[in-house]
Amino acid sequence: MIKYDPKLYKIIKREEKRQKEGLELIASENYVSEAVLEAMGTVLTNKYSEGYPGRRYYGGNEIIDQAESLAIERAKKLFGAEHVNVQPLSGSPANLAVYMALLKPGDKVLGFSLDQGGHLSHGHPLNFSGLLYTIIPYFADKKTEVIDMDEVERIALKEKPKMILAGFSAYSRSLDWKRFKKIAEKIGAVTFADIAHIAGLIAGKQLESPIPYFDVVSTTTHKTLRGPRGAMIMCKEEFAKAIDRAVFPGVQGGPHDHINAAKAVAFGEALKPSFVKYSAQVIKNAKALAEAMQEKGYRVISGGTDNHLMLVDVFGSKQITGKEAEHALEIVGISINKNMVPFDPRKPMDPSGIRLGTPALTTRGMKEKHMKIVVSLLDKALMERNNPKMVKKIARDVRDFSVKFPVPGIK
Ligand SMILES: *Cc1c(COP(=O)(O)O)cnc(C)c1O
Repeated sequence: MIKYDPKLYKIIKREEKRQKEGLELIASENYVSEAVLEAMGTVLTNKYSEGYPGRRYYGGNEIIDQAESLAIERAKKLFGAEHVNVQPLSGSPANLAVYMALLKPGDKVLGFSLDQGGHLSHGHPLNFSGLLYTIIPYFADKKTEVIDMDEVERIALKEKPKMILAGFSAYSRSLDWKRFKKIAEKIGAVTFADIAHIAGLIAGKQLESPIPYFDVVSTTTHKTLRGPRGAMIMCKEEFAKAIDRAVFPGVQGGPHDHINAAKAVAFGEALKPSFVKYSAQVIKNAKALAEAMQEKGYRVISGGTDNHLMLVDVFGSKQITGKEAEHALEIVGISINKNMVPFDPRKPMDPSGIRLGTPALTTRGMKEKHMKIVVSLLDKALMERNNPKMVKKIARDVRDFSVKFPVPGIK
């Protein structure tokens, strides 16, 4: 590419350097394998294939059908799902399709409050979900900072939503799928689980799956699942037609065939025993990271984590705002994101907390003992943020430490 577009080539090389020399603690990010990268960069991107395998609106899809079918087959095996649609371009359009398949505009949806860990597509007022549907939030308990299922049941019985939605972007505890399903049965609601963050940990057999209980389950493929940027929807056979129709022609036109091929590759990788090991290590690392943060005097929301992520109340513990922390860490090459904590007295643009996750560092081969080093670098960067000389030294230390752990696809 250097010959054809030196300008963009340089930009890509700079990003490779950033990824290699920095510490990636953003909970929704990961590094895909070289095989996944390779599939994305193929001529499959040249094809148009509206429709589904065997019933397309364009000719010449005989081979594309095989790639999409392989992705579906592997996803079914990986998650034990009755029906899978691998075409959603990303998590938000997948969720749009789910709502479209199961609801009418105005219908009530019970979902986890956004400022406590829900996702934009679970009812943000500027998102389609908040604009089209009536979102009733449930909350974490103020004292334990864990979702109170009795409270969920109380709200559900009172509001009688058409759909109960379980899933999150920033919550560190396991969800009680069975209890959600029981509550939904009492009021005849459909159940929708959004496992975007934890799909890899479910595929890797570390967390309980909602698939036996829930009607519909959506997930992104690029977070803990470690595939290409994209999504898929899994459901019980009775919802298959409605889901397929909502994805195409309801929400999308042609699927991205090169990405769907890369999904097949990623699902193949996730079916291997090494992925079970990876998922277990992600959680072990998260627990080690949480403990090391607590040892340094940071308050971890709900006191710990069951999955790959945690929220840390940096303002409550150290009087540093989430925005300040994000900035101070970015300067030394540590990527995290600012995040609201439950019942946050501060505003979303400068909240009290930060969110940390271990999927990316674990892909690079880090173990529990490395989490201690990561926390020590992170804590130093926050404590010394107003000391330019120290900031430079910490940035060097971050670089020296990071480059010891190879990033797949980067030399
Ligand atoms: C990341 C995420 C999504 C959406 O993903 P995009 O691909 O960014 O649209 C949806 N739901 C949850 C819970 C997520 O964490």
